[in-house]
Amino acid sequence: MTVKAFGAHAADQPVVAMDIFRREPGPRDVQIEIAYCGVCHSDLHTVRSEWPGTLYPCVPGHEIVGRVGAVGAEVTGFRPGDLVGVGCLVDSCRHCASCEEGLEQYCTNGFVGTYNGPTSDAPGHTLGGYAQRIVVDQRFVVRIRHPESQLAAVAPLLCAGITTYSPLRHWGAGPGKKVGIVGIGGLGHMGIKIAHAMGAHVVAFTTSESKRAEAHALGADEVVNSKDPAQMQAHAGSFDFILNTVAAPHVLDAYTVLLKRDGTLCLVGAPASPHPSPAVFNLIFGRKAIAGSLIGGLPETQEMLDFCAEHGIVADIEMIRADEIEAAYERMLRSDVKYRFVIDTASMG
Ligand code: NAP
Ligand code: ZN
Ligand code: ZN
Repeated sequence: MTVKAFGAHAADQPVVAMDIFRREPGPRDVQIEIAYCGVCHSDLHTVRSEWPGTLYPCVPGHEIVGRVGAVGAEVTGFRPGDLVGVGCLVDSCRHCASCEEGLEQYCTNGFVGTYNGPTSDAPGHTLGGYAQRIVVDQRFVVRIRHPESQLAAVAPLLCAGITTYSPLRHWGAGPGKKVGIVGIGGLGHMGIKIAHAMGAHVVAFTTSESKRAEAHALGADEVVNSKDPAQMQAHAGSFDFILNTVAAPHVLDAYTVLLKRDGTLCLVGAPASPHPSPAVFNLIFGRKAIAGSLIGGLPETQEMLDFCAEHGIVADIEMIRADEIEAAYERMLRSDVKYRFVIDTASMG
């Protein structure tokens, strides 16, 4: 079937309306009528070919929420009308050690991303959630237990939520732990809310003084202007864990010096060009680590959604029409979004 979508025909072309093909649901497929889709910075990196390997036409979007429209004959977990979500993954090999553990994002045979991934469906690569409808294998669909009135604000949990939840859990954020969140954008603002709900002492690092008061409201116990050396120095050697969501290259030493012995700086921001090489001595003296983390697997994504529903956590969003996506990208590049744009699919006509 043909559905309306928004995407780009080339790296230097804007995101515009287009018609795309969706397969008829197979036996294990769930057909989802998309209500809202969040706008992640990864969408911008991909659609503008800031990262290598973008295939065109490119339809971004991996923070998808909506209602089940139809299901295949073998689908057991979902029924038409259910509120569901789809994140960054729509398939993986399902039998490697990572897939067996529910860590499909680390599939050793390569996962299939919600956009720009390999598929036998036309046009030969996956097309994402800036569209009216998507068809996804039931294993890669999650259930939404938030009230329906919050549906639009749940969308960003499917990427920004899980990308911060997974490393915060992995590195043990909780009571008695001092946790830093660097960059208060889509990911960072979710990181603050989730780390606070986990019971950690949360310190937000921002380059935008204008976000200070809001960072406290999001759940930060302390807020540091990362451009002020004195404010940074006051936290030297004190963090158990720092989660860095910044989408641009910067000097990581500013954060490794803030870690305690055995502390970890985890990078989730994925800038198009590398950070300056970090100073080794900051790591050696204190057995510190710089790590990375990629989104989260399906079981943990469901766990995160349930955790957020239980704690009343959703994203702070600004709703946009589909024809405002380019303007939203430009504002995102200026760190001018509080804190996630979400596309209202109804605006696709
Ligand atoms: P975003 O909404 O644009 O937020 C990034 C924030 O970083 C900005 O709001 C800003 O916060 C800060 N920032 C921007 N430029 C900066 C600079 N030059 N120096 C210091 N701070 C700067 O982006 P997002 O959607 O949260 O995504 C963030 C990054 O994570 C992107 O690179 C994205 O591709 C990546 N990502 C990775 C994964 C993963 O699995 N690892 C998943 C999703 C996204 P302040 O105003 O507070 O300084
Ligand atoms: Zn994303
Ligand atoms: Zn696998």
